Amino acid sequence: MNESSDSPRILLARALRQKHAHGETRVRLSTEERAALKRFLKAGGLLAQRRAPRDEARKPGPETRSPKTDPGTGHQETKTPDQPPPPETLILAGADKAAQMEHLRRVAMACAQCPHLAATRTQVVVGVGNIDAQLMFVGEAPGADEDLQGEPFVGRAGQLLTKMIETMGLTRADVYIGNVLKCRPDMPKGSTGNRQPTEKEMATCLPYLKAQIAIIRPRVIVTLGNTAIQGLLGLSGAVGGHRGRWQQYGDIPVMPTYHPAYLLRNASLQTKRRVWEDLLAVMEFLGMPISEKQRGYFLAGRGGGP
Ligand code: SF4
Repeated sequence: MNESSDSPRILLARALRQKHAHGETRVRLSTEERAALKRFLKAGGLLAQRRAPRDEARKPGPETRSPKTDPGTGHQETKTPDQPPPPETLILAGADKAAQMEHLRRVAMACAQCPHLAATRTQVVVGVGNIDAQLMFVGEAPGADEDLQGEPFVGRAGQLLTKMIETMGLTRADVYIGNVLKCRPDMPKGSTGNRQPTEKEMATCLPYLKAQIAIIRPRVIVTLGNTAIQGLLGLSGAVGGHRGRWQQYGDIPVMPTYHPAYLLRNASLQTKRRVWEDLLAVMEFLGMPISEKQRGYFLAGRGGGP
C-alpha cells in the first residue's frame, strides 16, 4: 500500500534524512512533525506500521487474542507497548558507521522489548567484528557462554566458527558476527542448555539485525542454521534443504549453511565437506584466493581437513 507524502512515517524519515545530509546527529522536529509523531507513536509506532502486513496475515490482533503460554519455556506472551526503533532511525542517528553502530549498541543494551528476556539475560549480545567487513555471519541467539561474555559465538560452536573463518584465510577481526536475537532465550526454571527463539522474539528483535546489515553493507552474508534463515529470510524448513543455494537479502547475496553446533553433533566428513563447499562458494564470490589444499579439504582420502 502506498503511503501519502504527509504520513507520519514519511514526515519523520524526511526530517531525519535532511538532518543527516547536513551532518547533524541531533534531531529537531517542527511542531507539525512533532504532533504527527506523537499521534503516530500513540497509535502503535513506526515498527508496528512497517510490520503490519506480515504480522496481520499471521496472527489475530492483540485485542482478540488471549495470552499464549510457550510450551518450551512456560512463560506467557506479554504485550509490549513500545517497539525498538526502526532500522532507519538507528542508522541515521550517527554521522558515520562507527557512530551509527555505537548508537545501535547503546539502544540495544537498554532494550527491554522482550520483558522475559530482559529479566533473565546477563547482558545483551549485540555483535562483534569489523564494521567494514565484506563478509557477515548471522547466527541464532546467544547461548549461556555468549550471555556471560557479551560476545556472539564464543562457546564450543563459536570456537568451531572461528576455525572455519581461519580456514578461509581470515580472522574474526576481518568479518562481522551477529545473531537474529540479541538476548539469550530464557529457559524453564531448573533446566540448562539453550532453546530456539520464538517467532515473536525474532520478529521483535529483527530491526537490530537489519540495522546492523544496513550499516555494515557486507558483500555477502552467511547464515548459520535454521533459525537464521527463518529470522532473516523468512525461509521455512530445515537448513539442509537451503544450504549451498544462494539467497538474497535485498541486494546482498546470502549463503545459508549449517550452524557450527550442528557440526559438533554431526561431525561426519560429508557434513563438514558440505559446509566447506558453501564457504568455498563464498570465497569464490568474494574473489579470495583458494589454494589446491583448501579445495581438497574434507574430501575422502585427501587428509580430512585442516
Ligand atoms: S531480544 Fe532483542 S528486542 Fe528482545 S529485549 Fe533483547 S534486544 Fe530487545
